[in-house]
Amino acid sequence: MSHANPGVHHHTVGDVVVTALNDGQFTADIAYVVGIAAEDGTGLLRDSFRVVPPRITVSCFLLRMAGRTVLIDAGGGGCMGTLLGHAKARLAAIGVAPAAVDTVLVTHAHVDHVTGLLDDDGGAAFANAELVIHQAETAFWLNPEVQAKAPAAAQDSFTYAQRGLAPYRDRIRTVADGAEVLPGVTAVHLPGHTPGHTGWRIASGADTLLIWADLVHLPGIQFARPEAGMAFDSDPEQARATRARALDMAAADRLTVAGMHLDFPTFGHVRRAGSGYAFEPLVWTPTAEGLFPTG
Ligand SMILES: [Zn+2]
Repeated sequence: MSHANPGVHHHTVGDVVVTALNDGQFTADIAYVVGIAAEDGTGLLRDSFRVVPPRITVSCFLLRMAGRTVLIDAGGGGCMGTLLGHAKARLAAIGVAPAAVDTVLVTHAHVDHVTGLLDDDGGAAFANAELVIHQAETAFWLNPEVQAKAPAAAQDSFTYAQRGLAPYRDRIRTVADGAEVLPGVTAVHLPGHTPGHTGWRIASGADTLLIWADLVHLPGIQFARPEAGMAFDSDPEQARATRARALDMAAADRLTVAGMHLDFPTFGHVRRAGSGYAFEPLVWTPTAEGLFPTG
């Protein structure tokens, strides 16, 4: 008998069913954390009963609404062996064929978000999907002049971004902050981690959910110390300012949030705690889980 979490979790936002799909988890290095002392980071991990070095969870999301089937990011595909790339099996487990996905909303073009867009041959895994992404993201990763000026350490990221987006090049829709890309689904530009890093706000009836992408990578550290960033933030100062602003908004507005690197199944609320914040995972309810068979 398997004791594993199936990596699928349903949450309703008005008439929209939002499903978190766990793609996997990988071990990070405490050296990825910038802006605070390394011993402060490991202390916070130990205080929250987490492993050191920390692990980063990767998830993506499915929206089912009014005849639409929408994926938000696609996970890391085969970019880290079998550690990532489980999102497609999660989709299969809930009976969603890749061809049924009509839209993919991309939060940003990092390897652990776009490699899952590919099939085994490097083609489009989601053959019928339009790809929606912030205009600053394609203007950065797909621009040879930008790439030529980027440091050697960043060149792989350009390769992965271009590879992930290439099969969709004829059906990419670029958008700006505030664009309503589908009924009730709005782009929220959260720049800094990458230039076009974007969360997606889903509103239906009286409910709202902000899927904030990579605002937080290490929940054991960054809620308590939101000034802590990641070495792969493209603009660390801007990422820090964006995180401060978004956490303040989430706490003040009592927003329900979810994120690609929060602890699965990722849904919850942010509250102020001391000089930082704390994350309160959403309490599971059988009503939401029972809406769709999970296999
Ligand atoms: Zn990421």
